[in-house]
Amino acid sequence: MISERIAYVNGEMVPDSSASVSINDVGFLYGDAVFDTTRTFGGAIFRLGEHLDRFYQSLRYMRIDPGMTKKEMADITMRVLESNLPLLGENEDYWVSQRVSRGTRTPEGLSGPNVIIECFPLPLRARAHLYRDGLQLVTPSIRRTPPDSQSPRAKVHNYVNIVQADLEVKAQNQDAAALMLDVNGNLCEGMGANIFLVRDNEIYTPREQYILAGISRSVAIELAHELAIPVHEADIDLYDAYTADEIFVTSTSYCICPVASVNGTRPEGGVPGPVTTRLMDAYSGLVGLDFAAQYLAHL
Ligand code: PMP
Repeated sequence: MISERIAYVNGEMVPDSSASVSINDVGFLYGDAVFDTTRTFGGAIFRLGEHLDRFYQSLRYMRIDPGMTKKEMADITMRVLESNLPLLGENEDYWVSQRVSRGTRTPEGLSGPNVIIECFPLPLRARAHLYRDGLQLVTPSIRRTPPDSQSPRAKVHNYVNIVQADLEVKAQNQDAAALMLDVNGNLCEGMGANIFLVRDNEIYTPREQYILAGISRSVAIELAHELAIPVHEADIDLYDAYTADEIFVTSTSYCICPVASVNGTRPEGGVPGPVTTRLMDAYSGLVGLDFAAQYLAHL
């Protein structure tokens, strides 16, 4: 039995505490790196194939060659997860991430790439109250980086734009999270989560161009189709948020999390409202685990 989590670093399986990259790694120096993250449900990995498809698209966007095929990346990911499963506590699960930086700077140029695959326990306790109370969202003045500066569709290591947004929001309300607008004033995305509104039993979510197309976002859309709930990918703004019946966010870790308010305005349909509840139930059915109950068990 291992006593510490194990990570893959450039061909080696090493204990987390000694897994490291150089101070000359350009992911560390410049955010010049790409990553993707899925999670487990009851220890079973979720949609690894889709996450790796997105990961390899982010790599292509950044013109980074990871030096291994998607199949090799998937095999090593499973080896890392299996090594770490014995350390998973009861009712806990992991984030499982692949990270590739362009390399390490040397006087002769870059050596690289640096490839890391690691597991990290989900913050179930810290977020449990959100499934009881809902998320408070606040729009910061900072807009999400537009695609003509750096495409938000690629999942790169540089999160400073979103970090700044969240700092601004938390400076005003420690319990709130950022809901960013795009440069056109439309609702965009939050700190690692996509936004959905429900009005008259129909669902609205921002179009893909200005956001990271979340895998959980596509799961929620898929489930809505199965439940015959119409979904519109559209330009939506704060008017739509303030007049919505229900609001929720999606992400790998949240799955679906109800929103209690946007800039202090509460949706009238409840937290979670009836449509959100149907989707949450369907999501739990799909993943084979009541994810909201798993969070709530950590209250
Ligand atoms: N937007 C951003 C900026 C994110 O970092 C994430 C988390 N990866 C998401 C949305 C949600 O994506 P997913 O559902 O794939 O976790």
